[in-house]
Amino acid sequence: MSSTKRIVVTGGSGLVGKAIAKVLEDPEYKRDNEEWIFLSSKDADLRNPVEVKAIFDKHKPTHVIHLAAMVGGLFHNMAKNLDFLRNNLLINDNVLNTSFETGVIKVISCLSTCIFPDKTSYPIDETMIHNGPPHDSNFGYSYAKRLIDVQNRGYFEQHGKKYTAVIPCNVFGPWDNYNLKDSHVIPGLIHKFYLAKKCGDVGTVMGTGKPLRQFIYSLDLAKLFLWVLRDYDEVAPIILSVDEKDEVSIKAVADLIATNLGFEQPLKLDETKADGQYKKTASNAKLRQYLPDFKFTPLEEAIAESVSWFVQNYDKARK
Ligand code: NAP
Ligand code: GDP
Repeated sequence: MSSTKRIVVTGGSGLVGKAIAKVLEDPEYKRDNEEWIFLSSKDADLRNPVEVKAIFDKHKPTHVIHLAAMVGGLFHNMAKNLDFLRNNLLINDNVLNTSFETGVIKVISCLSTCIFPDKTSYPIDETMIHNGPPHDSNFGYSYAKRLIDVQNRGYFEQHGKKYTAVIPCNVFGPWDNYNLKDSHVIPGLIHKFYLAKKCGDVGTVMGTGKPLRQFIYSLDLAKLFLWVLRDYDEVAPIILSVDEKDEVSIKAVADLIATNLGFEQPLKLDETKADGQYKKTASNAKLRQYLPDFKFTPLEEAIAESVSWFVQNYDKARK
C-alpha cells in the first residue's frame, strides 16, 4: 500500500479551499491514503516566517496546495497594488521556502490568467507568462504571482524539487468573497443585485459590460486540483480554464445573475468605472491533452447554484 500523504491546504477557508474540502466529501474523490489539513489566517499569518515554520512543524506536510493570497477583484487591485505585491511576495516566499526546508515533496501554487501580458496575441498559453508587462490595474498581484513560476523553476534547477503551479481563470462559487467593494465581478454582482431587489433599486454593472471573461466553477476547479495533486508531474504550470468558446461578456453574466435572483429591474452600466483588461482568453489545450473528457459545469447551472447558495447562506457569507 502507498504511504499516507499529509496535505496542507493554505488558504483552506477561502473560495477554492472550501470547494476542495466539499469535493473530498464525495467518495468518488476521497482517497484513504490522504490526510487533509485546511488552514486559515487564524492558524498562521503566512507573511510571518516564524508562524509559517511553526505551522509546518506542527502538521509536517508531505504535500502542500498553496492557495493563501491577498485576492480581490479589479477595483480592489487598482486601489491596493502595493499591498497585493508585498503581501503575496511574503506569503509565497515563506510557503515555498519552508516547504523546501522541511522536505515537502510537492507544492501546487496558484497563479491566475489575469497575470499574463496585457498586450498579447490570443489565445494565451502557459509559455507566455513572462512575455510583457501585465495590465496596469493589477501589476502588484501579477508580478508577485509571476515570481512563483520563477521560484518553482529555481527549486527544480538547483534542488530537483517538483514544485508546480496552476493557472485558473476567474473563479466563482459557494463560500466566495461577496464584499461589495473588493470582490470579483460574479460575487459582487450577486450581492449588489440581491440588495437592489430588496430595496427596489437599479442594479449597477461597473464599466461598459463589454469585456470578455472565462469563468470556472469552484467545484470544477477543486476536482482539477485533485487531479494535479495526484497525477500531474510537470514543474511547468498548467492553465485550468473552461474552453475558449465558453468566454462570455460581463453584461451577459450580469443578465444571468439577475435572472437567477428574479431581479427584474433594468441593469444600468456605469461607464465611468473601469473595464480592466478587455479580455484574457486562455487556451486549455494542455489540460485537454491530459483530460480530453473533463466536463465543466455549464455556466448557467453554476451561476444558479452560486446564487442559491448566497441567498440561503446570506447571514454567514463573507461580505
Ligand atoms: P479567497 O477566497 O480570498 O481566500 C483567500 C485565502 O487566503 C483565505 O483562506 C485566507 O484566510 C487566506 N489568507 C489570506 N491572507 C493570508 C495570510 N496573510 N496568512 C494566511 N492565510 C491568508 O481566495 P480564493 O479565491 O479562494 O483564491 C485561492 C487562490 O486562487 C489564490 O492564490 C488566488 O490568487 C487564486 N486565484 C483566484 C481566482 C479567483 O477568481 N478567485 C482566480 C485565479 C486564481 P482567511 O479566510 O482566514 O482570511
Ligand atoms: P478580473 O476578471 O480579474 O478583471 O476581475 P473581476 O472579477 O473584478 O472582473 C472585472 C470586470 O467586471 C471588469 O470589466 C469590471 O468593469 C466588471 N464589473 C462590473 N461590475 C463589477 C462589480 O460590481 N465588481 C467587479 N469586481 N467588477 C465588475
